[in-house]
Amino acid sequence: MSDTPLRIIPLGGLGEIGKNMMAYEYGEDILIVDTGLMFPPNDLLGVDYIIPDFQYLYDKAHRVKGIVYTHGHEDHTGAVRHVLERIPAPMYATPLTKGLLEVKLKGDKILRNIPIHEVKAGERVRIGPFSVEFIHVTHSIPDAVALAISTPQGVVIHTGDYKFDQTPIDGKPTDFAALASYARRGRGVLALLADSTNADKPGWTPSERVITPALEAAMREAPGRVLVATFASLISRMQQVAEVALRLGRKIAFVGTSMVENARMARQLGYLRIPDESWVSLEEALKLPPQEVVLMVTGSQGEPSSILGRLAGLGGRGRRPFNIEPGDTVIIAAHPIPGNAENVYRTINRLIQRGANVLYDPVAQVHVSGHASQEEMKLMLNLVQPRYFIPIHGELRHLVQHARLAQQVGIPADRIAVVENGHVIEFRRGQMQVTERVPGGWVFVEGGVVSDTSIRDIWDRQDLARRGLLLVQVPTDAQTGRLAGPIDITTRGFSLPEGGDEFLALLRRRIKRALARGDVDDLEKVLTSIVQNLAYTELRRRPVVVVILKSRAQTEGDGHQKG
Ligand SMILES: [Zn+2]
Ligand SMILES: [Zn+2]
Repeated sequence: MSDTPLRIIPLGGLGEIGKNMMAYEYGEDILIVDTGLMFPPNDLLGVDYIIPDFQYLYDKAHRVKGIVYTHGHEDHTGAVRHVLERIPAPMYATPLTKGLLEVKLKGDKILRNIPIHEVKAGERVRIGPFSVEFIHVTHSIPDAVALAISTPQGVVIHTGDYKFDQTPIDGKPTDFAALASYARRGRGVLALLADSTNADKPGWTPSERVITPALEAAMREAPGRVLVATFASLISRMQQVAEVALRLGRKIAFVGTSMVENARMARQLGYLRIPDESWVSLEEALKLPPQEVVLMVTGSQGEPSSILGRLAGLGGRGRRPFNIEPGDTVIIAAHPIPGNAENVYRTINRLIQRGANVLYDPVAQVHVSGHASQEEMKLMLNLVQPRYFIPIHGELRHLVQHARLAQQVGIPADRIAVVENGHVIEFRRGQMQVTERVPGGWVFVEGGVVSDTSIRDIWDRQDLARRGLLLVQVPTDAQTGRLAGPIDITTRGFSLPEGGDEFLALLRRRIKRALARGDVDDLEKVLTSIVQNLAYTELRRRPVVVVILKSRAQTEGDGHQKG
């Protein structure tokens, strides 16, 4: 066997939920699997989303032979623009995933010309030294695949996101035979890399079908409009909602740009089946009797700027496409991603205040996970029978728990690698080794572009958000260092209490006194600490204090007012 190692480089998704990205490197050739984004935790103020730090690949862009996608969810596709800007490699995806990628890239004149090769489940493509079979798996979006990646060092199975749904909405169960076939072929399976999201959930994940009765009951009992909130890429859920709506004589409208674009594309490709007469625009829907309408909206994570967030009065500065009215029923058909729970519950409370009846899991079974639970994970391990196991797609606690399950089905601990982003794993002559560490952190995207914002900047934003700002501008004479005009004091994020004038007067006196003492080193620092102390002793506040000394030449004159 060749002495050239197969290197597996996790760039995202190991040690976190989100921004999945993996590189497979053999000799001079590299294959990327998925390019996902992560939604920021609440305290990352101002960050739109987070993408993988893939600087390891910057100087190797010409060696990347292709980017393969497992499915169309944001945590697997959302960073595509940012990755293609540096690595314009051809992409490979199943038809629906390809459609979702095209929707993402259509606004970009250059990137939209990079080819996306369509590969159907069951087909195999050769990409450099890698031969990749797409194996159909069930998840919460149609057209999801696991990848069997054949390399000169052996076969690696990369599951993508999966559950073993025996009665999926699209009628296509997982291709068990294809998964199992690799265990008996040639030297068997070198390594399995599998989804760990629900590694702490015992048993089996229920089929997507189980939520149909809950949806149906909710819509049947709803006296007026029904709004269903979910992810714009949860195509299976759209289909389910549409089927129930049609049965109950309701028409369906999609609200929000991403929702509308994805639904239109999925319908064109045949993944969403809704007859013409039942698909209406928002304007038409608002003219129909309320009991004949279902609206599908974004905002299942409580994002203030989403449609649902705006309807709840949380974001968009009051702009909303319509108003929530008593009699409306809102169904939240997704689980909060960890970190979003607070926002989701706040949204629910605000919707209830406005008169809506809100249904969410566990009040009604209107959502079910798209990921395998423990018994399915064991089944995957038993079907594939890998020599080595690497848990992926999960926080560290999920990866560790998944490793324990693998040991239960007989994989020795020394053949399991629990690693986080950036830890390179090498396979050579059937042996596994965890080797060097490469960057695998977070890159922030703000306003659609990669930002230079550091974690220090984020801390500053948090300080400003929590404590407010006290800005003191002090004009001083360039020659004498003495006060050369009125001191200007501004606050943001807090208001001075009644009698605040006294505080301001005191502040000005102290600053004047400090200046009068003269020749102090680091005057700004000294003044800052004076202001900080006064704010605390007089107001019991600890605002962020910024003191700016504006040195003025004599010619400007003493009485010159600040501009
Ligand atoms: Zn997924
Ligand atoms: Zn995922």
